[in-house]
Amino acid sequence: MPALTGLMRDLPSHASPVYSPGPSTGKDVSGFDLDNGRSESPPPPTVLSPAFTPPSTPGAGTPTKQKEPRSILVDTASQRPPKLLDTLPEVNCVVRARIPTVTGAEMFLHLYQNNVDDKEHLAIVFGNNIRSRSLDAPRSGETEMDRMIRGAYTGRLHPGRTSSRIDPKPQPSTSPPVDQVIQTSALVRIHSECYTGETAWSARCDCGEQLDEAARLMSLPSSPGGVIVYLRQEGRGIGLMEKLKAYNVQDLGWDTVEANLMLRHPADARSYGLATAMLLDLGFGGDAGIKLLTNNPDKVRAVEGPNREVIVKERVAMVPLAWKTGGKKGIHSEEIEGYLRTKIGKMGHMLG
Ligand SMILES: [Zn+2]
Repeated sequence: MPALTGLMRDLPSHASPVYSPGPSTGKDVSGFDLDNGRSESPPPPTVLSPAFTPPSTPGAGTPTKQKEPRSILVDTASQRPPKLLDTLPEVNCVVRARIPTVTGAEMFLHLYQNNVDDKEHLAIVFGNNIRSRSLDAPRSGETEMDRMIRGAYTGRLHPGRTSSRIDPKPQPSTSPPVDQVIQTSALVRIHSECYTGETAWSARCDCGEQLDEAARLMSLPSSPGGVIVYLRQEGRGIGLMEKLKAYNVQDLGWDTVEANLMLRHPADARSYGLATAMLLDLGFGGDAGIKLLTNNPDKVRAVEGPNREVIVKERVAMVPLAWKTGGKKGIHSEEIEGYLRTKIGKMGHMLG
């Protein structure tokens, strides 16, 4: 590996960065240009001045033009199922709260606990008619105040309210009744936490933009409602520490998939059983079906669960804003282009 030897020659021995090549990526390491001619050019402005980039808040910074998402019918019944665990995890919604957002749209944040990990996975619910079964179930010994505090109420909370079940001042609702909503498939996005892309202004990926776009589509007046299942699986499941190491490997010239493989992680370590279980809890089992917002065809079947507990009827593509707007909006960085190319070329994503 002549390129690597040259790179490490000047390092003190205690630095000893060990590169484990991992599974073959079909390309000899010496074939990679570690410099890529980038060392002379300044970093893109998005990296230099994160302070000028507003944090990604759901719905913020996305176009206000109200356009229906374009969807593609899918039928996975004939597909060979991917490797999924036989049983779904048990999930329990422990609290729900109304969140007014900066766009004026409201959503209900649902916090879940489960029996497979100790992370607080979330469901961001748009629309008043999507209810969590586990949240609404009565708990022994609880008072009406207990129920309201954990969010198991109908309608809206207001000062002086005493019953979780009957809202004496019901808000006028323009939403169709529950049954009708479940008949028209709701939009669902399975989103994995990305601290770097959503909070730290990273232009290496488009996670923040995708979260904004999903929220925008779900809060359109014509939307039957929707759910963003927000899974705490940072860095395609490898965690923030390993993801930051992978960032350094990418700065050395490898792409996002190669970086994970070099660090001995699978290209994608995520699992979606928790998402399926949460969707069932929110009433999306049976024939109702969902419209899934994703470019990742593998995700479609994985989200349906081992026995197709949830059925994906349509797939809605998430086209990067920069592509949709001819570069006027969205993320601009040399990193994002490489990232999207890798997603399409190596991970089978279909942007359109
Ligand atoms: Zn990301």
